[in-house]
Amino acid sequence: MTFTRPEDPAFPPIGVWIGGERHDSEAGGRRDLINPSTGTILTTVAEAGPADVTAAVAAAVSARLSWARTTPADRALALLRLADRLEAAAKEFAWLDAANTGKPLAAAEAEIPFAVDNLRFFAGAARTSMTQAAGEYVDGYTSMLRREPVGVVAAIAPWNYPLMMAIWKIGPALAAGNPVVLKPSELTPLSALRLGELAADLFPPGVFNVVPGDGELVGAALVAHPDVAMITLTGEVSTGKRIARVASDRLARTHLELGGKAPMIVLDDADIESVAAMASMCGFGNSGQDCTAPCRVLVTPSRHDELVDALAALARNMKVGGPFEPDVEVGPLISSEHRARVTGFVDRAIADGADAVVGGVAPDRDGWFFEPTVFVGADNGAEIAQREVFGPVVTVHSVADRDLAAVAQAVDYSLAASVWTRDVSRAMQLARDLHVGTVWINDHFPLISEMPHGGFGLSGHGNDLSSAALDAYSDLKHVVINTER
Ligand code: NAD
Repeated sequence: MTFTRPEDPAFPPIGVWIGGERHDSEAGGRRDLINPSTGTILTTVAEAGPADVTAAVAAAVSARLSWARTTPADRALALLRLADRLEAAAKEFAWLDAANTGKPLAAAEAEIPFAVDNLRFFAGAARTSMTQAAGEYVDGYTSMLRREPVGVVAAIAPWNYPLMMAIWKIGPALAAGNPVVLKPSELTPLSALRLGELAADLFPPGVFNVVPGDGELVGAALVAHPDVAMITLTGEVSTGKRIARVASDRLARTHLELGGKAPMIVLDDADIESVAAMASMCGFGNSGQDCTAPCRVLVTPSRHDELVDALAALARNMKVGGPFEPDVEVGPLISSEHRARVTGFVDRAIADGADAVVGGVAPDRDGWFFEPTVFVGADNGAEIAQREVFGPVVTVHSVADRDLAAVAQAVDYSLAASVWTRDVSRAMQLARDLHVGTVWINDHFPLISEMPHGGFGLSGHGNDLSSAALDAYSDLKHVVINTER
């Protein structure tokens, strides 16, 4: 490991970022971050409390009007500079997220260019926001539309992609002219704290604040704060529901990116090698801790065994290990609690009669690892096929062609799906009929800065990425002039 930042006296980045300055948390709170690949303490960071939330929201309120009145060009410039700094510090950010989450360093490194591109996209989109043209829609009146910022945005991020999920929120919120208070996951605050440092002199004081802390305490205080106009969360369905309940008291806007149970729908004519490669790369990559992970493979009976064999062979050969080990492909789960949860799902699936053709156990080593696991024979209605496991676990189901769409939809989540076939008509019919936010055809991964990402139903509402995200963080105002007076 050649990275030098941890020896730097500024590491760990202790503090909260309020008004463009680093402070200690008011109550002096501290949290030990546990290294998921060893189970030992990685470092200790400041833990904010409710008083820090009050101070951060007050700073954001004081910056609200002046930031709203900056030109799109000025906001774009600040975001472009942040993108440049992030790009220059890519190795450091990758190291922070890899060390904090346990994901392979190469995977963390691969995320940074996309996060940089997201920021650059939002910088550009801020300057090209389009709405209906001003004009005379009723005789004697001229109408025009103003797109205006919503106000103080509370951005609450998860631990699976700590930096990228933060960028997906702060990018459009800041581009649309809102001040932001970012709360990273209490488990993975390192990259967000470093982002606060990187951005400190790029935005006017109070425009970008970072309060690391517990969800139930700091997150809840942010959500309940009367001066927070909008809450954007990426997290679990249960967290989304709780936030929506609190926000509904004052009708604060919510933007919720929640869980998933994405199917891969594999037709008779699919290229099985590609399906198996994608199922292993995305089903076990990030240790399956991905809301769009292809964790349910629905394949026609004639191709089932061939696919299981191909996927099991890949899963068996994946290298499990710590983030800085050479050629590692699957890191640990985020915490001992989360591994216990994943183990519970797997043990109950086996007890229910599902067959783990590969994996199904935690390897015998320190840290919160779990073997890539492929299940066959699970009922479509079984817990393992219905609930979001968020671990390196893929179930393969033999499903008659005519039932594929119905089985794909027979879960509570509506986030993403993929269709594997060479038949363009079938692919397009399924793309039309599936009630999910993203349908990939002969792929299961690409996310694109210009295109929206979001779910329906229990998977949440509102879009990340694209100009739709910029719209989500702004309001439309109709201004009407009586031209006869
Ligand atoms: P989580 O819901 O436990 O936590 C997410 C964030 O919410 C954390 O910062 C946490 O501290 C905070 N939080 C928890 N309780 C809170 C409360 N009462 N009030 C305010 N904030 C609170 O989720 P997680 O375990 O960190 O992340 C994994 C989940 O995120 C999975 O369900 C996954 O599917 C989902 N996810 C969805 C997307 C998407 O784009 N749809 C992307 C990534 C992850």
